[in-house]
Amino acid sequence: MRYDVIIVGAGPGGIFAAYELIKQNKDLKVAVFEAGYPLEKRHCPIDGDKVKTCIGCKSCSIMSGFGGAGAFSDGKYNITNDFGGTLYEYIGKNEALNLMRYVDEINMRYGGEGTKLYSTAGTRFKKVCIEHGLHLLDASVRHLGTDINYVVLKNLYDYLKNKVEFFFNTQVDKVEKTADGYKITSKDASYTCSKCIISVGRSGSKWMEQVCNDLNIPTKSNRVDIGVRVELPAEVFSHLTDELYESKIVYRTKQYGDKIRTFCMNPKGAVVNENTNGIITVNGHSYEDPALQTKNTNFALLVAKHFSEPFKDSNGYGESIARLSNMLGGGVIVQRFGDLIRGQRSTPNRMNDSFMTPTLNATPGDLSLVLPKRILDGIIEMIYTLDKVAPGTANDDTMLYGVEVKFYNMEVAVDENLMSPHDGLYIIGDGSGITHSLSHASASGVHVARNIVKNS
Ligand SMILES: Cc1cc2nc3c(=O)[nH]c(=O)nc-3n(C[C@H](O)[C@H](O)[C@H](O)COP(=O)(O)OP(=O)(O)OC[C@H]3O[C@@H](n4cnc5c(N)ncnc54)[C@H](O)[C@@H]3O)c2cc1C
Repeated sequence: MRYDVIIVGAGPGGIFAAYELIKQNKDLKVAVFEAGYPLEKRHCPIDGDKVKTCIGCKSCSIMSGFGGAGAFSDGKYNITNDFGGTLYEYIGKNEALNLMRYVDEINMRYGGEGTKLYSTAGTRFKKVCIEHGLHLLDASVRHLGTDINYVVLKNLYDYLKNKVEFFFNTQVDKVEKTADGYKITSKDASYTCSKCIISVGRSGSKWMEQVCNDLNIPTKSNRVDIGVRVELPAEVFSHLTDELYESKIVYRTKQYGDKIRTFCMNPKGAVVNENTNGIITVNGHSYEDPALQTKNTNFALLVAKHFSEPFKDSNGYGESIARLSNMLGGGVIVQRFGDLIRGQRSTPNRMNDSFMTPTLNATPGDLSLVLPKRILDGIIEMIYTLDKVAPGTANDDTMLYGVEVKFYNMEVAVDENLMSPHDGLYIIGDGSGITHSLSHASASGVHVARNIVKNS
């Protein structure tokens, strides 16, 4: 089968590339290959009852399938160049923001209308934070919520399904260069195209490395972020979350001068497992519908680790730490902040004694046996500092889930069109190592689609 454009991966990057290609030229023959299931068939078996922890499904429905890693996410589309990726370094700050706003408009048109756009502009919390050495980053954030995010994805799929050919449960094994484009192979079948867009996200990171090796595409090793997910009663952060929804706060520790930041804040949300290449870590999300909300707020506290020569495998380092928690806890470990400070493990009895109910069924344990001292010291220092702007953060019953790891893909060599050194081969989204968020990944898809149409 021959196509004008083949897209590998149906996450936000791939979906928005497909959408824009068809919008710009409805006659283009486009195919999307996705390793996971269609949206309606994506189900994580963890029900908190019969299946309590990750059972390592062949295709993880949290990470793979139509909608990509974003399908059951909180649907927070941050419109900013301050975090979420470095797309602006390739396409310019204005263009990056314009594309993120364009993505927001489409999301509104496909079911997101009525959802709230929060902003840090003019907030008094900037001053409150800075008084304590905490730095609130600037952003506008559209919170779709897990429920509306699903509706938007469903509507986008309904729009695309008769215009684009989708191949689900079809993992692409190989990408090869041909005389007039590219050949992709999945199991025993092969398909050719003039242009190929690879958008395989974090779950495709190992495969992406293989493609770069095969096609001699230069990469540079990236960072890994390691930390914990904090869960506390929603009241503790409500003054911040009611106004800003998500506050991205950065702190430099006094002890080591390391930077720690809050990440992915989910007011009245739930903590969930995440399975990346068989390693179980934590994440979080929340619903727009008040009926589905919980009494807790969760967010990650992450320390970015950059390594210098001779060590190159930053993801391997993060994986080893996550494996340690998986080995000790059989999955994710949870510990009360008070237990951590007193140097004792959390036990089922101590957990039952808490004033708050955790939203994830994790194994009570001791995070000091898992996290390197420097990282743990930094997290503790930041919790005490956050306690000054959100009193109650350092309470005994604050839950810490570990570990949360943000794996970053190797940064792939692409130009300002996000094209690799091979003519017509584009690498976008989180799989490129350039984006780390829904808004940046989606924007990268639109950017590439426009470039393909302009030059075809
Ligand atoms: C639980 C959770 C919550 C999150 N919450 C937020 C949030 O609120 N806001 C935010 O900005 N970001 C959030 N993120 C991150 C966000 O989901 C990602 O940044 C975003 O999905 C990246 O989009 P992408 O298209 O680049 O990749 P992905 O969404 O990862 O999609 C890649 C797709 O490619 C497929 N694939 C991989 N390899 C192959 C192959 N060889 N052949 C065929 N298909 C392949 C995968 O199955 C996957 O479906 C969250 C992530 C998780 C896991």
